[in-house]
Amino acid sequence: MKNSFKKWKNLTWLCRPYWKYGKVYVILSLFFVVIMSPLDEMLYVYSPEIIVRSLNEGRSFSYLVVVALIIAGANFIKSIPRMICSPYFTKKQTEINMKVKRNIYVKAMEIDYKYVDSPEYYNEYAWAMNEYVQQTNQAFSFSKRFLSALFSIITLFSIVMVIGPWLIVIEIIQLILQKLLLARRNKIDICKKNETVPVERRLSYFHRLFYLKEYSADIKTTPLKRFAFDGYDKSGKEQVDINTKYEKKGAVCYITQEFLFIVTEFVLTLYLVHSIIEGNIVDAALYITMNLSFYRLDSNLYNLIQLMEEANNISMNADKIREFFDIKSNIETKSTDVQITEIHDPFAVRFKNVGFSYENSDFAISDLNLDIKPGEKIAIVGENGAGKSTFVKLLMRLYDVTDGDILINGISIKDYDVELLRQHVGVAFQNTNVYAMSFADNVSLFNKISEEELERISKEYELDSILEKNHADFNSELTREFSPDGIILSGGEVQKIALARLMTKKWGLLLLDEPSSALDPLAEYKLSKLILSTANRATTIIVAHRLSTIRDADRIIVMERGKLEECGTHDELMEKHGKYYEMFTKQAENYIN
Ligand code: ADP
Repeated sequence: MKNSFKKWKNLTWLCRPYWKYGKVYVILSLFFVVIMSPLDEMLYVYSPEIIVRSLNEGRSFSYLVVVALIIAGANFIKSIPRMICSPYFTKKQTEINMKVKRNIYVKAMEIDYKYVDSPEYYNEYAWAMNEYVQQTNQAFSFSKRFLSALFSIITLFSIVMVIGPWLIVIEIIQLILQKLLLARRNKIDICKKNETVPVERRLSYFHRLFYLKEYSADIKTTPLKRFAFDGYDKSGKEQVDINTKYEKKGAVCYITQEFLFIVTEFVLTLYLVHSIIEGNIVDAALYITMNLSFYRLDSNLYNLIQLMEEANNISMNADKIREFFDIKSNIETKSTDVQITEIHDPFAVRFKNVGFSYENSDFAISDLNLDIKPGEKIAIVGENGAGKSTFVKLLMRLYDVTDGDILINGISIKDYDVELLRQHVGVAFQNTNVYAMSFADNVSLFNKISEEELERISKEYELDSILEKNHADFNSELTREFSPDGIILSGGEVQKIALARLMTKKWGLLLLDEPSSALDPLAEYKLSKLILSTANRATTIIVAHRLSTIRDADRIIVMERGKLEECGTHDELMEKHGKYYEMFTKQAENYIN
């Protein structure tokens, strides 16, 4: 009972977008189903009876032609409204699908970044992306088919009750047996699916290895292809074995079902013959109507049982999709009523006894204290895994501190409207991207700038030479996603564009996480100098691995295992002969050698 209630609740939940985005579409669709299904059945069952009766009454051929024309006309007329509405239905269906998909993107934006780290949540996310649109369509189509079957059954049941009530008893017995067989078949299907899913996941991994651009060089040039082909063949064989095993079990069910149909047909014929002998069926016309209405009733009832199984399936999918939509976020959705919606540049940043740890990781930032003045240029250095990127992510509010607080202009970072805050924080991560748009649109992503400004920035960041080399201009696309003439850029060139993009806007805080790591040392040195001197007067935090590039920073912070180890200017830290001195001299030695 509880399960049934949940099933209907889930189906309603999936149909909700249809109601929200297409009330008229829903009403019209259901109206057609409710009116047309009984009409269809009556025409189907009674048309032969009318013809046969006319024949029995010795009507002329022309009379019969007129009757046949009327029946054909009625069939045609009833389909006219559906045909007229068809373009509207197609348009509306596409619109609803687009909106449903958009809702997933909106939800994905509202989910805290931390969830993407967890495979469990990522699976839910992927599941919703793959299934939500399809399942809403399924649920709505289910509603229509359910109503259609229901109204057809009511109509046919009434006809059969009048002309041959015993047919109902035959029908109910066969229905119960069919239901049992169907349940068995579904059980077999579920077991098969459970065994197939891990194999399909493996096959999809091999598919990605062959298909995705990021693996294409590896797969052509390394023994990875052997691993991929071996794995594909092995999983393929497993897939075949599973199919064979379950096909055998399924075949037994199919044969039993067929047998049941034949037995029912036999019993029906016996019943009808008995009725003729008893004089209950007086003419051939009635015989035909009884036969047809029984088969239509049988087919609709069988349809209904199948639909109930389908509803279970849709409901199980809805459960999984709802898990995604029920994910609670603390950062992306406004968690407090009072949100600071004004902010002034450049930021003063204060880390006050900050502690942070990831779920499922031993790494922790603990008791971090730091005051950064407005406009100050801070460089963060440290070994891999020291916590530099984490520091940047805390300032973007991709994660929230677990202890202490980060204050922006004296106010807790959590009190700001997160969208507003991010509008004032410019960030370039190591793995930065260009997108499938023109060079001009890529550079002015954060801020629409004039042609002259674009020219100036291109010159300053030496982007003009990239365009020249590729015989491209400001309108050229920066990927080949949609344009065959798109430019393919190197990692360093992408980083240059990402940095130039940041310089089009005035930021309160500029976060640069190894923004030039893919550049050659000379280009990186020049670019870092440029950034530190022109970073639009924003408070700037730059994570760097080549220490010579950040000598001009106002302060350099050395991080080690989540702690702030040293802090000072280049000269101060060199004099101190501590960790920074050690790292700097080591790197310098490498270059000199
Ligand atoms: P750095 O930028 O200094 O190289 P990070 O801040 O990226 O270091 O990472 C610091 C530590 O936190 C590393 O040990 C890393 O494994 C761990 N870490 C980073 N991101 C996550 C995450 N999303 N989940 C769990 N641990 C993480």
